[in-house]
Amino acid sequence: MEMEKMTTLRGKPVMEGIAIGILRFMDAQDTGVASDEHEPSAPAVLKERFVQLRDKVAEEYLALAERAKGEVGSAEADIFSTHAMMVQDGDLEDAVFAGIDAGQSLTDAIRSAGEGIAAMLAEMEDEYLQARAADAREVCARLVAVLRGGSVDSLQFDVPTVLAAVDVTPAELLQADRTKLMGFFTAQGATGSHTSILARSLSLPSAVAVGTLPPQSLEGETVILDGFTGEIILSPDEDTLAAYRDKQASVHARRKEEESYRGLPNRTADGYEVQVLCNIGRGEEAAAVLQNDGGGVGLFRSEFLYLESTDFPSEETQYRVYCRLLQEMDGRPVIIRTMDVGADKQVGYFGIGREENPALGYRSIRICMDRPEILRTQLRALYRASAFGKLSILVPMIVSVSELLWVRSQEQTVREELRREGIPFDPGVKLGIMIETPAAVMISDLLAERADFFSIGTNDLTQYSLAVDRQNPMIERLYDPHHTAILRMIALVAQNAHKAGKTVSVCGELARDTALTPFLLAAGVDSLSVSPPYVLRLRRAIRNANRSEVNLNEYLQT
Ligand code: PEP
Ligand code: MG
Repeated sequence: MEMEKMTTLRGKPVMEGIAIGILRFMDAQDTGVASDEHEPSAPAVLKERFVQLRDKVAEEYLALAERAKGEVGSAEADIFSTHAMMVQDGDLEDAVFAGIDAGQSLTDAIRSAGEGIAAMLAEMEDEYLQARAADAREVCARLVAVLRGGSVDSLQFDVPTVLAAVDVTPAELLQADRTKLMGFFTAQGATGSHTSILARSLSLPSAVAVGTLPPQSLEGETVILDGFTGEIILSPDEDTLAAYRDKQASVHARRKEEESYRGLPNRTADGYEVQVLCNIGRGEEAAAVLQNDGGGVGLFRSEFLYLESTDFPSEETQYRVYCRLLQEMDGRPVIIRTMDVGADKQVGYFGIGREENPALGYRSIRICMDRPEILRTQLRALYRASAFGKLSILVPMIVSVSELLWVRSQEQTVREELRREGIPFDPGVKLGIMIETPAAVMISDLLAERADFFSIGTNDLTQYSLAVDRQNPMIERLYDPHHTAILRMIALVAQNAHKAGKTVSVCGELARDTALTPFLLAAGVDSLSVSPPYVLRLRRAIRNANRSEVNLNEYLQT
């Protein structure tokens, strides 16, 4: 038999880990339903059948939501509640009825209604709505499958399997035989989709946006999925396979060992305790914070709310999101950053237009100072939500004292407004600033007197201090957050914060770099905020560190 040649595909990594298994395809678009079914019933009969079918499927989704709640948490359960709502949506009914009136069979009417709605969503500019196209297809595939006499079958596998698909729906993922599903990759999909969120909650190595799937003839071949890099290695040779088996074994060993840190304090060997919080971009990720034993939310990037909308999110919309997050965190600290739109996070309806240097351009607080209503709406929503938990507000991209004072004045106005309106809020809400520009570092003594806390954004601080665009792959090797200049800045900021009796946290990616944990602690950092999967790893590094043994000069003088 001729050996297949080893080839590599690359997608966007969703969940880290190494999956090794047999390649199996799932064509998500094909529900296996023949389009030439004859259903000679009268339109009124077909419509009645649709209504009954829809109610049955909605019930099935609600049952799935209950199951998801028990297995993976309430955020994932919401996916199925949303599907239950979509299946009962009036637009779907109208489209199906129109198909029936035009002489289509019920199967065809549902399928074309689903495709129509999915196509419309896929064309939306908004990424969030685009991602809902797969949900529309999922809902209609399920309707058709149930119409034909059953539920969509669970994906059952005989052997450890890596699944390849055009797209996978959250329901399919939840129903798949997870004892044998090692990982999956999809041609389409986005890292922020519900499927990706679920994959992370299930710790399932995965990659999306691979582009072209491998040829179907490779079904049954061995495949390696590297969830760290998004690489998919088809028909690997023996040496590659052995190398990845080693990598897989060390990942397993590391995870197992990390688990033993669950529930322990983030305390160094010599008794210095810090907070370990989580960076998230969407309310749905609250479940991952809790599952990974995070102490709360250290950075909620609220700009995702703006990126996922087609217009400015209203006070009410924002209030609901913040409220829910605070409630889910159940008294744990939650730091919500005011919107950091601009630079690499452009939002069409802001109308910013083309800029020569967007990273040095019209961004976050700079936009708000020209259009105060944007910040006011957000501050009102935040303050109203503050009554439901332990909220702090974080302002990005500060370069001067006057900017901070301006935000303070806006904050004051909002507090007075709410008081006048009799709306309850927590008067103890803290207002902190991101330290992510060299200017903010150099005046951190002045800023510390007026801010309640600092959070160091090493991602931008590195870019602005070293004059290295964080987005430019050609100069990636120059993007060095370990640079002595950055480490000195961190030490200086911590010193100035503490002199004024304020706390300092690091929320840039450097916070999860365990090679620097002893330095960060010795420099006086009070809190570290990382993506949820890194909490336990960081806790291990903290507990193994001994602050008194760190020689700061080794970091600051080399
Ligand atoms: C940072 O700059 O380090 C940061 C945390 O913010 P963002 O990555 O969202 O710019
Ligand atoms: Mg930043």
